[in-house]
Amino acid sequence: MFIEFVGAAQTVTGSKHLIRTKHANVLLDCGMFQGRRKEANRLNQELGVDAPSLDAVILSHAHIDHSGALPLLVRQGFDGPIYTTPATRDLCAVMLEDAAMIQANDARFINKTIARDRASGLDPVEPLFSVEDVLRVLERMIAVPYRRTAEVAPGVRVTFYDAGHVLGSAISAIDVEESPGSGGKTKRVVFTGDLGRKNMPILKDPEIVEGAHALLTESTYGDRLHKPIAAMEDDLASVLERTYQRGGKVVIPSFALERAQELLYAINELKRRGRMPKMPVYVDSPLTVKITDIFRIHPECYDAETRALIRENRSPFDFEELRYVSDKEESIAIDASPEPCVIISASGMCEAGRVVHHLKATIEDPKNTVCIVGFQAAHTLGRRIVERRPRVKIFGVERDLRAEVVIMNGFSAHADQRDLVQYAGELKERGPLGRIALVHGEETPQKALIAKMKENGLDDAVAPGPGDVIEI
Ligand SMILES: [Zn+2]
Repeated sequence: MFIEFVGAAQTVTGSKHLIRTKHANVLLDCGMFQGRRKEANRLNQELGVDAPSLDAVILSHAHIDHSGALPLLVRQGFDGPIYTTPATRDLCAVMLEDAAMIQANDARFINKTIARDRASGLDPVEPLFSVEDVLRVLERMIAVPYRRTAEVAPGVRVTFYDAGHVLGSAISAIDVEESPGSGGKTKRVVFTGDLGRKNMPILKDPEIVEGAHALLTESTYGDRLHKPIAAMEDDLASVLERTYQRGGKVVIPSFALERAQELLYAINELKRRGRMPKMPVYVDSPLTVKITDIFRIHPECYDAETRALIRENRSPFDFEELRYVSDKEESIAIDASPEPCVIISASGMCEAGRVVHHLKATIEDPKNTVCIVGFQAAHTLGRRIVERRPRVKIFGVERDLRAEVVIMNGFSAHADQRDLVQYAGELKERGPLGRIALVHGEETPQKALIAKMKENGLDDAVAPGPGDVIEI
């Protein structure tokens, strides 16, 4: 079999890997590229795969950089099934619809700006897909619970295992028969999707898969070690306290899925220990409210501790100062009010959604804080904030970045270097593991991870570029 690396190859967004056998073409993930608008738009429209020729898609989890191009795939003629876990299917129902709405709103906003300011130099934009395209994706989804096996195409089977990254996230074990039906040799490719961490709140730990011949592993933090999550609580407590003392607001751009819930979990813990200043916490994201409802109907994804909390009606997602904001007027009122507060809002990389409005309202004042808790891809507004550029462009207008910027990578839902090497090592102990292909990472972390893997006896690791093909 051959594996072609179409997206998330030497970069972190646009996850797409194509398994080609003599009898089938199966796509792993169909994620959206994020980054510089023009380039991202081009990459998203071109897709890089021949949609009608695909037999099936296997989807690792609901994050948009893994699922967000599915509506385009269907639009371009893909008519096969999409296999994923039940929780991912439900999350996609709300997350893809939200992505379609964000695109429609952004296109309207940008086109309005262009109409007003002809010297802006911007090109008019069209949404990439519509809510109708999303419905066509959902009609093709087949939910397969963890640790059950499904035949997805002739001679290709998939079994999902817990990945511990976000609700519903899966490590996929893909078994490929060389000659389907003849009982011939089978090879197992393991695709981590995004790999989570052990001992994170809410989710079960990542599972080890037996019998892998090849591993496709993410490498986002291939050159870093995370602080333990407990240390993050101390950091968060001091950020909240000093911003409160300055009379400022804390803006936390956050993925609506998982990160937002983990933040609430952490803030709730601070409050329980008397370390939370008396300030309101706004979850300003209609999507997060919907996602929290989906958490409630998928207890099969929780660890024992969270199952107990939910059973006892002590959900970490409800406390006195917490307000879920769906209404747009209320969202605008938060920025207009002078009172200190915490604003958790999407999108996670500050490219779209209400967080951009909150950043616009807060970043020019040094009493405020922007708290970055997730990975920021190159060329996103989030990355420019991480780099503490003196001026950043928001809605086409340059603004001074005077707010304090705090980066807290310890909240990461991604494995760090130690976790990634350990995971590959454990697979090697339990199977004939040979080739390791690093995906979903930038050049520097990938190089560091390859070197570290070599030190640990994992000699056959490579980092394929876009369009590269390997044979297994
Ligand atoms: Zn992810």
